[in-house]
Amino acid sequence: MEQPNLVRAWALALSALLAAMALGSTAAPAGPAAGTAGFGDRTLWLGMRGRDVRHLQKHLNRLKAPTVVDGQFGKGTRRSVMSVEDRHGWVPVNGKVSPKEAKRIKGKVNKQRRRKETRAARRSHVFPIPGPHDYGGAQARFGAPRSGHTHQGQDVSAACGERLFNAHGGTVKAKAYQGSGAGHYLVVRGKDKTDYVYMHLGKASWATEGTKLYAGQQIGRVGDSGNASGCHLHFEMWWPPGWYTGGRPFDPYRYLKHWDSYS
Ligand SMILES: [Zn+2]
Repeated sequence: MEQPNLVRAWALALSALLAAMALGSTAAPAGPAAGTAGFGDRTLWLGMRGRDVRHLQKHLNRLKAPTVVDGQFGKGTRRSVMSVEDRHGWVPVNGKVSPKEAKRIKGKVNKQRRRKETRAARRSHVFPIPGPHDYGGAQARFGAPRSGHTHQGQDVSAACGERLFNAHGGTVKAKAYQGSGAGHYLVVRGKDKTDYVYMHLGKASWATEGTKLYAGQQIGRVGDSGNASGCHLHFEMWWPPGWYTGGRPFDPYRYLKHWDSYS
């Protein structure tokens, strides 16, 4: 029985060695393997992928250096990094994100967020989606034909999970779920007596009937709950006395565009 044991011992030693080598290659800072590292834990460049690359890509978009958010550091991402480096005079402009540069990027994003929040606090109305968004075509507009009715609002598409803000200060009038249509939705009676309606939220809003909300306060996230093809906000505005309490909806497009111009 000596011999097989020896063989097994050798096999174990060999597999341990192989495992160590494999570990070594993932831990190497230059490794292109998928990372579980946090943003800023390692230097990122072309060919790398991981959660931290995705994080970087989101930040680049917030800094108006657009790139696809897919967790893959491709040429487009490198171009975006270089444009940010160039814009701020971070030398060398090489498209590599060292932990130090990651910290600078986070700093810029946070500063921008604070600036937006301060600006929003001074405005009575805020555009409900802070990230990249799209108003779509004719089908997305108020009054567009739908089977059996017309579209009562404006659709604005955005990334699933994008933050959703309350457009105008007020009080939650209704919070509900409608599987066949609106999905998770929220109706806010504005201080201006207009009702503001948000549909297809990713999850039910934390806010409930009677909750007081300020303009720019996060009410949830963009989603595709209910009858929605793709993540988007279906947004409605209703004249007083409001949403299904005797009022009627009107086209919110030009209001959205206006808030969008400064938010
Ligand atoms: Zn819609």
